Amino acid sequence: MKTKIYFSREEMFQLNRDRLLERGVTIQSIAEISFKQQSRYNDNVSMRTCIESVEKILTLRDIFHIIQLGIEIDCLTEKGLFRSPIQEIMQADLGMFGVDEVIGLAVASNYGTIGQTNFGDIDVNKPGIVKELNDAGKDGKICHTFLDDIVGAIAAAASTRVAQILSENEAAKDPHYTNIKLDL
Ligand code: MG
Repeated sequence: MKTKIYFSREEMFQLNRDRLLERGVTIQSIAEISFKQQSRYNDNVSMRTCIESVEKILTLRDIFHIIQLGIEIDCLTEKGLFRSPIQEIMQADLGMFGVDEVIGLAVASNYGTIGQTNFGDIDVNKPGIVKELNDAGKDGKICHTFLDDIVGAIAAAASTRVAQILSENEAAKDPHYTNIKLDL
């Protein structure tokens, strides 16, 4: 029998959640970054919507492939399984490597261009779990070269989804508002 390669959104969510947990990342810790970021612009942000947004993003097929691949690259780097010089470049989390940021931008773009600026903000300021991952990756044994960007990007995408929901709520105050069953 062939090994399964097609997964339902529920299965992808569970695999993503479990892989992230194995690497010390909880949904709550990602949602906290989204909450802090959006709270700067809006007083009506709820932690519940931030958690729901992270959970929703963890069901997306593109994100599934990126999370699974990114974590696998980090784990193989920890085991020293790449050839030189890319092994040492990824192990050192070289600032000019940039492939991790490209992947982060792809993740963050899921809810529009604002996702990219939100990702840039998180990438520079490294709040919460992003800083913890980044710091832990500096000891030479643990590698979070891809994970810190992926986690920051999920937080940025979730934060952008929250902004989209709040914008929709504002629009809904118009007496002529019609809902076309948006699936944000
Ligand atoms: Mg990185």
